[in-house]
Amino acid sequence: MQHHESPRTDPQRDQKSLVTVVGSINADIVLRVPLHPLPGETVIATSMDVHPGGKGANQAVAAARLGAAVAFVGAVGTDAYADLAISGLGEAGADVAGVVAVPGPTGQAFVTVDDRTGENSIVVVPGANARVDRNLVKRQHGLLERAAVVVIQGEIPPEAVVAASSGSARLVLNLAPVIPLDKEVIRRADPLVVNEHEARLALAIFERDAKRFDTDESIVEALLAEGIPSVVVTLGAAGAIFSSGGAPLRVPAPTVTPVDTTGAGDAFVGALSARLAAGESLEAAVKFAVRVGAFAVTRRGAQPSYPGPDDVLPEGAE
Ligand code: ADP
Repeated sequence: MQHHESPRTDPQRDQKSLVTVVGSINADIVLRVPLHPLPGETVIATSMDVHPGGKGANQAVAAARLGAAVAFVGAVGTDAYADLAISGLGEAGADVAGVVAVPGPTGQAFVTVDDRTGENSIVVVPGANARVDRNLVKRQHGLLERAAVVVIQGEIPPEAVVAASSGSARLVLNLAPVIPLDKEVIRRADPLVVNEHEARLALAIFERDAKRFDTDESIVEALLAEGIPSVVVTLGAAGAIFSSGGAPLRVPAPTVTPVDTTGAGDAFVGALSARLAAGESLEAAVKFAVRVGAFAVTRRGAQPSYPGPDDVLPEGAE
């Protein structure tokens, strides 16, 4: 794919703290409508916007905008959306040499948003993301081996997650969405990052009945007890809760007026990964990530809502 000039000049820093994201990359087509069409109905959109998206790309952009050295591994199609899908990564300064073009469509998300209620319905075309297989990942093993942190989500096939998680780098596994993975693969996560809903589905993979856990603390403890080295559960406006073995700690999010929560979880994971790669403790990284997540909900869209180095983050509510 295209090679973009990297704004970074210190190769030693890149060597030590590279964040390699293996994941999905989409074009998001956002249609605003006066009301959602019912089956058989036609409605006229009041606007259409196309943005780069996909959880993997969003997280890579969030980390790169915060100053991390980021490399991306994934696939786009051979259609007109490929360049657009990749544009956000390039603008943020991420290395896209590990993005492969495969025949067929680029991943796309068709988002219809009701003008009055803001409620959305989404149709996702996995496209090239479904073609990210074991071999595609293995061909990029240099980017995986050089990484301090490898970041993966659930929008690529399980075999690609397995291949990306088997190196020596620290693994940030954002199980979003929750896909069928072996317990052993999830146990490589340090941390596993999930929202409350995903945390319950993750427990089900370990054959634990989520209904028996009625507090966030008990869910974090149950996941740790299954042998996951560290766990972070994001709690929306309430921030996040995490543990790497001790009593779970809550980190409240700063109070903000939300404008659009799209991509807040991805901002959180990108920020967390950037700070872990820089050598921070999990606690410090989570404290930073909740502020970045809160910043992202105060602006519209996913990637356009992420802070750059000059933005002032809302203060943590401690
Ligand atoms: P997801 O969108 O993946 O379900 P969450 O809703 O848990 O993820 O949000 C991820 C992070 O974004 C939270 O940990 C928090 O930092 C931030 N966030 C989300 N919603 C709000 C909100 N209403 N106010 C402040 N921060 C928020």
